[in-house]
Amino acid sequence: MDIQRIGVVGAGTMGNGIAHVFARFGYSVVLCDVEQRFLDRALGTISKNLERETSKGKITSAESVAALGRIQPVTDRARLADCDFVVEAATEKFEIKTEIFRDLDRLMRPDVILASNTSSISITKLAAQTKRSDKVIGMHFFNPVPVMKLVEVIRGLATSQETFTAVRDLSVKLEKTPVEVNDAPGFVSNRVLMPLLNESMYAVMEGVATPEAVDEVFKLGMAHPMGPLTLADFIGLDVCLDIMRVLHSGLGDPKYRPCPLLIKMVDAGWLGRKSGRGFYKY
Ligand code: NAD
Repeated sequence: MDIQRIGVVGAGTMGNGIAHVFARFGYSVVLCDVEQRFLDRALGTISKNLERETSKGKITSAESVAALGRIQPVTDRARLADCDFVVEAATEKFEIKTEIFRDLDRLMRPDVILASNTSSISITKLAAQTKRSDKVIGMHFFNPVPVMKLVEVIRGLATSQETFTAVRDLSVKLEKTPVEVNDAPGFVSNRVLMPLLNESMYAVMEGVATPEAVDEVFKLGMAHPMGPLTLADFIGLDVCLDIMRVLHSGLGDPKYRPCPLLIKMVDAGWLGRKSGRGFYKY
């Protein structure tokens, strides 16, 4: 299938990055969110990030202007109907994604692949909301999308080889490296990363070390570019908590119990970088 026009549902942290890379590689993009102010914010971010790429000499200013011009912001989901491929990057809540997948299944041509950028929700379950489970797949980008090379490509139980191949090829066209993963809670990335972040929070909660000290151990001792608590703040503590809950319920092992300090911080509205306060102040 010839994929030219991309629908992106959700214009937050990930949605704006996904729209950015597709537009930057010549695709026309319809970017959908529930309110105009979220779209305005996303376009502001994309514009700033394209300018940064221009100043680094990665693209010309004409290419930057053209890329921005290929993104059409919409609040009416029906305007995605002429897209050839959709990536859903809305809030990580099963009920929200269920509603979106059911509606997209009704709205989109039967040949259109519906991909989700979910960090932890079952692709198999999302696929079961549709009548095209063979065309539902995980396309898991990493933050910041324009910079990070990895795409975890997640096969649900019913995902066809044709769908997998299309998404793998599309990832390569975006100059990303696709890695094939089967559907399981947290896939590979979050199943391994989140327990590390969660355990770092336990270390802080139990007074083993300060956030600064934990981060220093990982930066200097393990050559991580960013310590686990800085990374948790960057990802968003609410997102971390949701993922731990998915791992805990999906795998049923008490080792995935979310750290009580994480729960308390989310209850306080301390969500990390995006709220101005998490393990650090911004
Ligand atoms: P975010 O909160 O920054 O953005 C989510 C956006 O979705 C918001 O703008 C919200 O208004 C919008 N939205 C909510 N309901 C919607 C609907 N019905 N239709 C259209 N838009 C809707 O979240 P994010 O960090 O961008 O995460 C989005 C997805 O990407 C989640 O599934 C998350 O698990 C995944 N993800 C996040 C990261 C990360 O580092 N933040 C990394 C990889 C994957």
